[in-house]
Amino acid sequence: SPRAKLIDGNAFSAALRDEIATRVHELRDLHHVVPGLAVVLVGEDPASQVYVRNKHKRTLETGMNSFEHKLPADTPESHLLTLIEGLNDDPEVHGILVQLPLPRHINAQKVIEAIRPDKDVDGFHPWNVGMLASGGIGLIPCTPLGSMMLLRDTLGSLSGLKAVVIGRSNIVGKPMAHLLIRESCTVTVAHSRTKDLAAEVRAADIVVAAVGQPEMVKGDWIKPGATVIDVGINRITLPDGKTKLVGDVKFDEAVQVAGAITPVPGGVGPMTIACLLRNTLTACARLHNLDIPE
Ligand code: NDP
Repeated sequence: SPRAKLIDGNAFSAALRDEIATRVHELRDLHHVVPGLAVVLVGEDPASQVYVRNKHKRTLETGMNSFEHKLPADTPESHLLTLIEGLNDDPEVHGILVQLPLPRHINAQKVIEAIRPDKDVDGFHPWNVGMLASGGIGLIPCTPLGSMMLLRDTLGSLSGLKAVVIGRSNIVGKPMAHLLIRESCTVTVAHSRTKDLAAEVRAADIVVAAVGQPEMVKGDWIKPGATVIDVGINRITLPDGKTKLVGDVKFDEAVQVAGAITPVPGGVGPMTIACLLRNTLTACARLHNLDIPE
């Protein structure tokens, strides 16, 4: 039986990080500028600690500076805002990322809005959200940007294709929909109130699943030959008590129908950090008025 092409996010992201490292060394040698990423973590959420550790490691690997700020869970909001003001003004810092989720006593939206938009490498500041929606030059959220890179690499032009995005979060679903509109797709955004999700998915040449529900999208929902980008990262417990990571798509079924599909892990996941590094490089180049290939 036919099997979909596997979209290799590990290989793609490794090549992207190599390319970024080359640019970082050029910036250092030609312009004496070293891109710097500041990552702020409040509290001890175990998943967040893993993400922050990986970001730190990957940042250093490309030759960039990494500034980690780990604050206790009971840090007052005002302290966090003061730290961000300092990072906004620090000429060695070109990218600022506050790891989400934040403890409940802190207003996350207020924190996001405190970051200088031109250092907002997560792309969550309303200025960057607006720039993406209106087709301007801002910073694009990392997971949708990484998903789009994989789509462009797999399909070339996306013009005229029908895309469905399942999920409407500010972090993934909505910015992904904007990127697909920008690529001239016809875009449907589905969510928990969508009436007939299977029918919406069956009509789509491109399926982007960002739901957070393990293996929810079934193989017989996929249009034969469609390209499937599975953003979901869900840890499930197997009958023997072991755990494993699965996506939002039932991979074993979908791989028999799709034209191309991202595995979980090894698909979109590694693209997110690579795009964070890319956004940091982009922010650095723009802050210093230097031309780098986009
Ligand atoms: P959110 O929980 O913020 O959003 C989930 C979206 O899915 C919501 O819009 C929700 O609809 C919709 N939804 C939930 N259940 C259903 C359903 N049964 N049918 C249709 N739609 C549904 O999640 P995120 O966008 O932050 O993340 C989505 C997934 O992507 C998660 O698995 C997360 O772990 C993963 N992720 C992976 C990243 C990576 O680096 N690869 C980065 C970020 C996230 P409604 O709005 O109506 O509630």
